Amino acid sequence: MPTKPNRLCSCGRVVASGVLCACQVAHRAEIDRRRPNAAARGYDGQWQKARAGFLAHHPHCEMLIVSGQRCGKPASVVDHIKPHRGDKRLFWLKSNWQPLCTHCHNSKKQRQERGQ
Ligand SMILES: [Zn+2]
Ligand SMILES: [Zn+2]
Repeated sequence: MPTKPNRLCSCGRVVASGVLCACQVAHRAEIDRRRPNAAARGYDGQWQKARAGFLAHHPHCEMLIVSGQRCGKPASVVDHIKPHRGDKRLFWLKSNWQPLCTHCHNSKKQRQERGQ
């Protein structure tokens, strides 16, 4: 059986072919340590996709400025009409989403923080 040749790692060590060098092992451990857990990653990716899809179909801010008149500026935020407060069901409920521009989203948040 032919033995595979050793390889020279970029760090200068000679390691057996197909085996991770100590420097690579350390590097991977470092990446794993910095990475948020899988659940958080999946959730983030899913929301980014859902958000982009929603904004593609609802490109204008729907904040009611005066009765019957909406803001209409380009929307960049998917806002939860009713605050979800960590409630997954409410979070993913599309009927609870509305497109807002940054300005309207900020002023809505400010009103909520003042308790109105
Ligand atoms: Zn190495
Ligand atoms: Zn707006």
